Amino acid sequence: MIANYGYEDGSGFYYITVDTDICIGCTEYGCTKVCPGNVFAVEMDDYDDFVCTVAEGARKRLRELCSVCKAQNGSGGTERKLPCTAACPGGALRHSW
Ligand code: SF4
Ligand code: SF4
Repeated sequence: MIANYGYEDGSGFYYITVDTDICIGCTEYGCTKVCPGNVFAVEMDDYDDFVCTVAEGARKRLRELCSVCKAQNGSGGTERKLPCTAACPGGALRHSW
């Protein structure tokens, strides 16, 4: 499943997309370990698989929370330059901005 978390406002679209089919095979959960903003959480889905989600409290704050990483590493997109995307072995994460 492709899950989108985030929001849009007058300045743009701020979404993190998670391909949970890839997360099902993940055992390290590197995204949760490297993220300085505690953006990610691992939760059990409807099929009793553990998958990555964006934590409830982070969903409306992504632009702010990710600003430090993006200032240092550039934008996310499909590239894997951010701590979270670089730590994800299967490429399950994508940032819209
Ligand atoms: S590191 Fe990637 S595959 Fe593993 S839980 Fe995080 S987003 Fe999913
Ligand atoms: S860019 Fe990635 S690692 Fe950095 S704060 Fe945002 S979600 Fe976390």
